[in-house]
Amino acid sequence: MSKETAKELIAFIEKSPTSFHAVKTMEEMLDGEGYIKLEEKDRWELVPGGRYYTTRNGSALIAFSLPEEELKGFRIIASHSDSPSFKIKENPEILVENQYVKLNIEGYGGMLCAPWLDRPLSVAGRIAIKEEGKIVTRLVNIDRDLLMIPNLAIHMNREANNGYKYNPQKDLLPLFGEAAAKGNFQEILAEAAGVKEEEILGHDLFLYNRQKGTIWGAREEFVSIGRLDDLQCAFASLKGFLAGAKEKYGAVHCVMDNEEVGSGTKQGAASTFLYDVLLRIQKGMGGDYEDYLRCVADSFMISADNAHAVHPNYTEKADPVNRPYLNKGIVIKHSANQKYCTDGFSAAVFKDICRQAGVPFQTFTNRSDMPGGSTLGNISMAQVSVNAVDIGLPQLAMHSPYETAGVEDTDYFIKAAAVFFE
Ligand code: ZN
Repeated sequence: MSKETAKELIAFIEKSPTSFHAVKTMEEMLDGEGYIKLEEKDRWELVPGGRYYTTRNGSALIAFSLPEEELKGFRIIASHSDSPSFKIKENPEILVENQYVKLNIEGYGGMLCAPWLDRPLSVAGRIAIKEEGKIVTRLVNIDRDLLMIPNLAIHMNREANNGYKYNPQKDLLPLFGEAAAKGNFQEILAEAAGVKEEEILGHDLFLYNRQKGTIWGAREEFVSIGRLDDLQCAFASLKGFLAGAKEKYGAVHCVMDNEEVGSGTKQGAASTFLYDVLLRIQKGMGGDYEDYLRCVADSFMISADNAHAVHPNYTEKADPVNRPYLNKGIVIKHSANQKYCTDGFSAAVFKDICRQAGVPFQTFTNRSDMPGGSTLGNISMAQVSVNAVDIGLPQLAMHSPYETAGVEDTDYFIKAAAVFFE
């Protein structure tokens, strides 16, 4: 069961090299279940019991299911679609000594740099073209080994193993081809997108690791692939959303973009996207603003973003007592400074959900002398203020292009999400 789920998770992530593709992958799953796509620019005609989804920027998605009876509140799980990577800059080709062509890139989010080197990479994202008088976007994935960021040999950098600071403009530009490849990037991109080179007016393109996902370990207890943060939560949230009965409350599966760069975009958690959708649901169900406020007061959000498991080589990095491990259950994240939105009340609500679902949970806090990260839960509170808990699935090597998680934990979250969406 859990191994099958891990295989499904790998397939989901391999179809989703960028946030744009992750949204497309989720759209296909929702279409398959009969969900109706709503465009934000259209007037929404909602019916009780209806099942819908909408997207923003093609990189954030909110799916929702309405109760047959009066809307009393929302049950929301929020995760994020983006992962740290490198973005291809405008006019990316750089000719080196008339021998090589490399690509100009810049960092997106806080990645671990070293594991991006010496492995086949490619490029995916979206392009913008003019079609029937309008600018439209199209997904693109150059689905082959295309690029490599070669390391400098140890002989030329004797300090390489003594802690190295990567300069993205100097150390991390990927090799694209020999001199004859000059001018080929746009050509290859156009071919992959099925358009003519000169039609491409804009692009949002990112590097991704070509290494396939794998299930491994003495007893096949681990799963590794890129973008587990946070597509493992997005996947489990959607599976639980589809499995849940969704009868009593407005059930909301929400996946925001740009968490890795602070969430401050129109499709990020700081935007009005969730607020706009919830308000439109309320109006669509015949309610007014007063009803919206009443509903929000009786709502609950699970902010789902992966958590750090205790690392076998760095056990001292974890809190002395709150120590999450792989395959030991969903992690509830606490922070006194409210980097996470969990409090005593919301933690209790979530533990109760886990107990009802029959799945284990564990606790994460940062060491008191280490600041740790943040996530989208708190940021979204500025727009939609609800009781909320921050949780995640335990993983190692967060923000590497090849991360590791436990085979069991995805299933635990799917089960808990299904109970939450009951
Ligand atoms: Zn994350």
